[in-house]
This record gives sequence, C-alpha cells and structure tokens, in this order.
Amino acid sequence: MIGILALQGNYHAHIRVLDGLNISAMEIKYPDQLNSINGLIIPGGESTTINDLMARVGFHDEIKRFSKKKPILGTCAGLIMMSASIKNDSQITTLNILDIEVARNAYGRQTDSFIGEINIRINDQNLNAKAPFIRAPKILKIGDSVEVLSKHNSDIVAVKSGNHYGLTFHPELSGITFFHNYIFAKQNEAIKENNAA
Ligand code: GLN
Repeated sequence: MIGILALQGNYHAHIRVLDGLNISAMEIKYPDQLNSINGLIIPGGESTTINDLMARVGFHDEIKRFSKKKPILGTCAGLIMMSASIKNDSQITTLNILDIEVARNAYGRQTDSFIGEINIRINDQNLNAKAPFIRAPKILKIGDSVEVLSKHNSDIVAVKSGNHYGLTFHPELSGITFFHNYIFAKQNEAIKENNAA
C-alpha cells in the first residue's frame, strides 16, 4: 500500500496513476496512517499551505522518521518540502530528506508554466518525456548524496538520494508513470508476498 499525502494539492492525480499501475493507494491525512504504508508521495500544490497543515498535526517529525526506512517521491511543492533549505524563505520548515537547496516559483508566475521535453536517466534506462512545469521550483544546489536524473536546459529537474526521489515537474499530469512504477511497484510486490505467506 502506497500513501499520498492528502492535505492540499493534486493528490487525486497520483492516486489515478497508482490505480493504473495496479498499485494500491490510500490518502494520508493523519500521521498514524504512515504505519500502514510502504511508500509515500508528497504531491504538488502550495508548499506554504502543505507546511501549515502538516505542522498542525505533527507530520514533520513523523515523515522524517518514515523516510529512514521507506521511499518518498516528492513532486514540485512536495520536492520543496523534502529539501534541506529554501532560498529566501523562512516560513516553511523543510524536511531535509533531500540534500538540496531550492528556490520557489523560480520560473516566474502561473503564466510562465510550460511543458518541457526532458530525458531521464535511471539505472541504465533512458526515457524521453514531456513534463509539465507549473510555477515550478528550481534546484539551486545539491549535496554529495544527491544524484541528478534529469535536466531541462541547464536546470536540474529530477534527483535521487538513497531511496528518495524529487521532481520539479508533475509526472502525474502528463501520463509519466515511470517513477511511480519504478519506486513503488517493488514495495507493492513485497506486500502481496507477505499477504500470500
Ligand atoms: N509554487 C508552488 C510552491 O511554491 C509549487 C507549485 C506546484 O506544486 N506545482 O509551493
């Protein structure tokens, strides 16, 4: 079972992607639900709002604890939440799961949102995709633990660190199912095997 943090933002689209891959999914609204899942998606949305709603119920510490054992995929605002720091921002308490510094809304306003052609390299596989960037952040710095999986022009747009992944774009809005499948299908298999045993 994979969970999608369902406080604000477009979590439904991630559930649809997992459904399409036959990976069971549940909405996560309270920290104790983290005990029922084997992987977590932090969706896009508005990171200030997601941060406030997380703080109300004590999600920050619980997600950090979860990240020590299980994979997390963050897209856009989700990647902002997973970062180590945000340039010129003191409102948001980031989770420091990915050793990256980000800048919010780095491409400009909503009207500067765009679809970018990207190439993703992961485990000797290569994938071309059209990726929607919606008031997207930029990754300004990465630490030694962080691997770059994709760039758009000179901007880093997909990273991996251990079993965690951060994307500045929205795969769930353009039929890019690769990440969900790659990160979470194995977790799902483990659950099925456990249930069968
Ligand atoms: N601009 C949003 C933020 O800074 C992120 C946008 C998104 O998730 N698509 O939180």
